[in-house]
Amino acid sequence: MVDIADAAQINEQKERDAALARFHHTKQYGKSCEFCIKCGDPISINRKIAMPNATKCMQCQVEFEGNI
Ligand SMILES: [Zn+2]
Repeated sequence: MVDIADAAQINEQKERDAALARFHHTKQYGKSCEFCIKCGDPISINRKIAMPNATKCMQCQVEFEGNI
């Protein structure tokens, strides 16, 4: 019983650490350019992969290009 309890506790600890790491990662990206500078919506990860320097979400980019 003790072994099972210990294993569960270790798993719990690992999950907490992983969640915390994800949280800090998101926070860090959010401060740089993960959010649209125009509307503040999060920029999708697919868009960031295609255009790492994108500062606007897809919708605002289309609007912006349509106004040129
Ligand atoms: Zn936007």
